[in-house]
Amino acid sequence: MNTPLPLNQIGQFDDEADVVILGYGIAGACAALEARGAGGDVLVVERASGGGGASALSSGIFYIGAGTEVQKAAGYDDTPDNMYRSMIASMGPDQAELIRPYCDGNVEHFRWLEAQGIPFERSYYPEKTVFLMTTHGLMWSGNEKVWPFRDAATPAPRGHQVAMEGDTSGAAAMFALLARCDEAGVRASFDSIAQSLIVDGEGRVCGVTVRQFGQERHYRARRGVIVATGGFGRNEQMLARYFPGLPDTAEPMGIPHTDGSGITMAVAAGGDVRGMDGLIATASIYPPPQLVKGIIVNRLGKRFVAEDAYHGRTASFIMEQPDQRAFLIVDSEIFAYPEIIGANHSLVDGYESIEAMESGLELPPGSLADTLAVYNQQAAQGRDPLFEKHTDWLKPLTDGPWAAFDISFNRSTYYYITLGGLRIGPDARVRRADGGVVAGLYAAGACTAHLSPDGKSYASGMSLGPGSFFGRVAGREAMRGSAAS
Ligand SMILES: Cc1cc2nc3c(=O)[nH]c(=O)nc-3n(C[C@H](O)[C@H](O)[C@H](O)COP(=O)(O)OP(=O)(O)OC[C@H]3O[C@@H](n4cnc5c(N)ncnc54)[C@H](O)[C@@H]3O)c2cc1C
Repeated sequence: MNTPLPLNQIGQFDDEADVVILGYGIAGACAALEARGAGGDVLVVERASGGGGASALSSGIFYIGAGTEVQKAAGYDDTPDNMYRSMIASMGPDQAELIRPYCDGNVEHFRWLEAQGIPFERSYYPEKTVFLMTTHGLMWSGNEKVWPFRDAATPAPRGHQVAMEGDTSGAAAMFALLARCDEAGVRASFDSIAQSLIVDGEGRVCGVTVRQFGQERHYRARRGVIVATGGFGRNEQMLARYFPGLPDTAEPMGIPHTDGSGITMAVAAGGDVRGMDGLIATASIYPPPQLVKGIIVNRLGKRFVAEDAYHGRTASFIMEQPDQRAFLIVDSEIFAYPEIIGANHSLVDGYESIEAMESGLELPPGSLADTLAVYNQQAAQGRDPLFEKHTDWLKPLTDGPWAAFDISFNRSTYYYITLGGLRIGPDARVRRADGGVVAGLYAAGACTAHLSPDGKSYASGMSLGPGSFFGRVAGREAMRGSAAS
């Protein structure tokens, strides 16, 4: 299915455009608008019967900062350098060549998104949460206030949420972008699944073969093909290869089409991948925020993460614990049920003593008592030398009775998206393993390696933000590429 077809085997093309884009989610739509804006004839190939993709199902949080009008209205002075320091501190330097232009271009990018008709309120939601049911424009969406990241850069909220009530605000973003694409004259071939790229004698990508209503069709791309087909969370073979420890209880997020087809097509044409074992999983213990004042222990009764970490970071550490087991321990003062019902964190039981809880959870005798003795003493002094949990969340857990929730990776329901994918440069060109480029081939969005390599460094919005940004880059760069003869 994915081996590229040689150009000389294509008798006749069924359609042609300057730029052919595979996938009509946020990356594809943003690429289309920029390529069209640069005067290109643009054809989007989409296997669904309309645009939207996983982007339209998303919570609509864009990780954007560097000093946007929304941040300023909330009283935060973020800058490109501050944002860069924050991202590099959590994600490491591997993707610095993408992170730098991303931070530098963020304010302009945010204005562009608004100019396309995507609504963002000048309002700020200060509480710790995963997504908003309200229309607030700004929220904390990652590890900015979490140690050690809060020491590397001045913490600033960067979760810019599209103004729509409910937890699928991404729909409002895609509604606006798709309307703009229609107005601009972007053409689309729906119900068309891209199957393989077409390459000329020099290895330059110059088209794509699609299947539409049972017919094979060939589309020529005069300047370039942009792959924007999303991640690979539903490709069983790729999951087995890159995530052998993934339990059956884990669920892929999003649409059935995240099968990695764009990645495998591009790899077959010479493209390289990076970070394929990166995953962000989530089954948050908060909201309500008060649960962050509890402690999380493994089956040895030991803490292993700052409980105020972003939920994806906590999940990543839980994955690594013995037997993937973990418990959230609370006392009666902070007791509440986790509000994200879909996570299925079950209440194990309530206990009159710590010893009874150790026995009920089958922890080594004395282990939890030791952990709590140290934690409670230090929390009473407003410190947590082990993990530097923020003082806002420190409270001795001394008000019995106590309760435990099972938040094990293989017992609760953790929802995940894949983070690895095609390796692109700052020009959104698909790289070869030797560092060269695959001529005529560009990529953006969840089919490319995310800026963050794993759930420990991911923040909500790091798909829609960079996906839209590098989608635009891909559209512009593809139009800059010379037309194939
Ligand atoms: C419930 C949920 C909430 C989320 N919330 C957020 C959030 O708030 N912020 C955030 O940043 N991220 C969020 N994410 C993740 C984010 O939505 C995705 O990572 C992002 O939308 C990917 O954008 P994309 O353009 O790369 O892919 P998509 O939006 O998935 O678009 C890819 C398109 O390509 C099409 N396609 C696939 N294969 C082919 C093929 N072979 N031929 C033709 N077409 C093809 C698909 O049908 C699809 O329309 C969320 C995800 C889910 C599921």
